[in-house]
Amino acid sequence: MSKFFVSKFDTLEPYVPGEQPQDMSYVKLNTNESPFDPPKEVVPVIRDAARNIRLYSDPESQELRQAIADYYGLEPENVMATNGSDEALNYAFMAFCDAEHPIVFPEITYGFYPVIANLNGIPYETKSLRDDFTIDTRDYEGIGKNICIANPNAPTGIALSLEEIEQIVRTNPDNIIIIDEAYVDFGARSCVPLLYKYDNLLVTQTFSKSRSLAGGRLGFIMGSKDLIADLNTLRNASNPYNVNRMTAKAGIVTLRENTYFKNSCQAIQFNRRYTRTALEKLGFEVLPSSANFLFVRSDRIGGEELYKELKERGVLIRHFSDPKIADWNRVTIGTKVQMDTFLSKVEEIFKKQDEERAAEEAHKARRIR
Ligand SMILES: *Cc1c(COP(=O)(O)O)cnc(C)c1O
Repeated sequence: MSKFFVSKFDTLEPYVPGEQPQDMSYVKLNTNESPFDPPKEVVPVIRDAARNIRLYSDPESQELRQAIADYYGLEPENVMATNGSDEALNYAFMAFCDAEHPIVFPEITYGFYPVIANLNGIPYETKSLRDDFTIDTRDYEGIGKNICIANPNAPTGIALSLEEIEQIVRTNPDNIIIIDEAYVDFGARSCVPLLYKYDNLLVTQTFSKSRSLAGGRLGFIMGSKDLIADLNTLRNASNPYNVNRMTAKAGIVTLRENTYFKNSCQAIQFNRRYTRTALEKLGFEVLPSSANFLFVRSDRIGGEELYKELKERGVLIRHFSDPKIADWNRVTIGTKVQMDTFLSKVEEIFKKQDEERAAEEAHKARRIR
């Protein structure tokens, strides 16, 4: 830390993103990117937009917001486009939370929430999950505090129903409820329809996961026109050209190519079921996931050890050091070929373990004799 860094950030702990090795030699199942390219129209559109790269992008992202609004049956004034949905979450925390308006989120969830709370000097409270890693919605009903919930939750993959979300939104009418739908396209129900009924709800989504544009950095947030206007005040006070012109065009194209999108979400769901069945056959405990990843543990091997052994064999998965989930790993769902590689490496690791144990037993037996 330099001597110039202001003291209020002395203890700020930044978010630790999953590894992004710059060589492509790994089977990369650690940061929930799509294994599929975006629709083929995306690259030419980006190239075309780059011709005007000397000019600033549209600070209102008008065309993109219109496309998102059309997709969801909203008006453009209900939508703000952001540089990844992390940016949207940061603005939402910044706009609606402070020392008098703390925020509540689950104890086990997306690690970015406590980071942005701390960054903005916002006190936060966490609610523990049940033993089966589900969210107990009663912890959030009528609590009179701002709330942020990822649905499906990360890294568990477990989703709440629309009715459960509605109950939380309805019983906290004087507070902001932020629902982070980064993974909603993989099998949960979006609560966007609740936006017609409630003015205290904000919904964030991203193009990073289901729409194959993680490197383009594009997200968005939806809510009442008043809430979105507040968020725009903050955006225009910090980064008015937050979405670049190539990315905006790429986003519009991926929204238009809806069949491609549906097919790739279906392929992920298929590969998820396939991987889940195979892991259960290997004795893993696997949480019921509505996302593009599985949260898994095994009695045979610790979370960190499995992560390390797989990395040595060229497969990256995500391990979290938080002791409450240190036994677990999060495995992104990739192509069937990638999942077969992952599964065969796991089998190889188990086989090596068995052989080592057998050798040890034999050694012991010899000594006893
Ligand atoms: C990946 C992710 C995001 C946001 O990612 P961006 O790339 O910034 O859009 C938000 N919430 C959760 C739970 C995520 O996993």
